Amino acid sequence: MFSYLFRFMFLVLAIPVLLFSQDSPMWKAHDLNRPKPKIITPPAQYLPVLPPSDAIVLYDGKDLSKWEGMDNKATKWINGDGYFECVRGSGYIKTKQAFGDIQLHVEWAAPLPVKGESQGRGNSGVFLMGLYEVQVLDSYDNITYADGQASAIYGQYPPQVNTARPPGEWQAYDIVFHRPHFNSLGVLVKPARLTVFHNGVLVQDNVALWGATEWQKFTPYHLHPEKLPLSLQDHGNPVRFRNIWVRELSEVPEKEPEYLPAVTLDKNILEKYAGVYENEDGDEIKIALEGAKLFIVRSATRKDEIIPHSNEKFSLRFTAIDLDFKLDDAGDPVEMSLTFTGNTSKYKKTE
Ligand code: MG
Repeated sequence: MFSYLFRFMFLVLAIPVLLFSQDSPMWKAHDLNRPKPKIITPPAQYLPVLPPSDAIVLYDGKDLSKWEGMDNKATKWINGDGYFECVRGSGYIKTKQAFGDIQLHVEWAAPLPVKGESQGRGNSGVFLMGLYEVQVLDSYDNITYADGQASAIYGQYPPQVNTARPPGEWQAYDIVFHRPHFNSLGVLVKPARLTVFHNGVLVQDNVALWGATEWQKFTPYHLHPEKLPLSLQDHGNPVRFRNIWVRELSEVPEKEPEYLPAVTLDKNILEKYAGVYENEDGDEIKIALEGAKLFIVRSATRKDEIIPHSNEKFSLRFTAIDLDFKLDDAGDPVEMSLTFTGNTSKYKKTE
């Protein structure tokens, strides 16, 4: 019991230590001296990006029926003509539906006229699972700390570049989010990961988060459900949003293939298959034995391993190509059928 508890305590305490004991020193959160991302001009306007058929549309310009306040009641955010707008002091809003791994598209616009500076200008935020913030800020001609500007993972990762549009113009985030994973003891085994495109430009490249977003504070991960609502921040500024859609990413592993099992054939059997095979067009395939393995030799630098499934049936180890051999009475191959994508060609053994 004690050793179990000790192990648990060790793991909980070890995670922040491991995360911070990297070789290179880490920037402290919100350090104004951290280098500012280079300013670039985003690509010409390409919005809106309309949802694909498997998306769940969270806002289509009509109503806020997919959203509610954090108290589960109707929000006081304003639903306008094709957009909705944050209302100061009304609190965050969240989706009624909970999500885990997602692709998310959000369009937003910083307010006009411009008011405030640094973190006080056009501040909102997209909170994945209500915990992990991709910062929304008017970062056009607005100096703030690098890890707090638009498309930063707030307090953790500045964007690779500043590709912000001027206030009042619609901007887009395209986000790929993978939730954190915890083991049965509630210990983190896989951190959350975020990839973000801002106005079509890659700004966060599969970064690993070290915990939930906080202000002036380091918060290690804490166990939470596999799905939680997405939320948008009320930071007191009338930031607008429109065209929000999400695609849930499958966490079901891909179906395993069902190939014939490989068998072991003696080297003296395998060497019977080595030689040159020719089809009726005169195309040749060379099969060679090297060690105890057969290969199709395509050139001096390329050869593909062949694995046996029986004396007649073979296939390439890494490519879906089947080789079926016709044997004579002595068990020597005389003909080979090569099947790829449903097409079969016959080759006669010539050497
Ligand atoms: Mg924010």
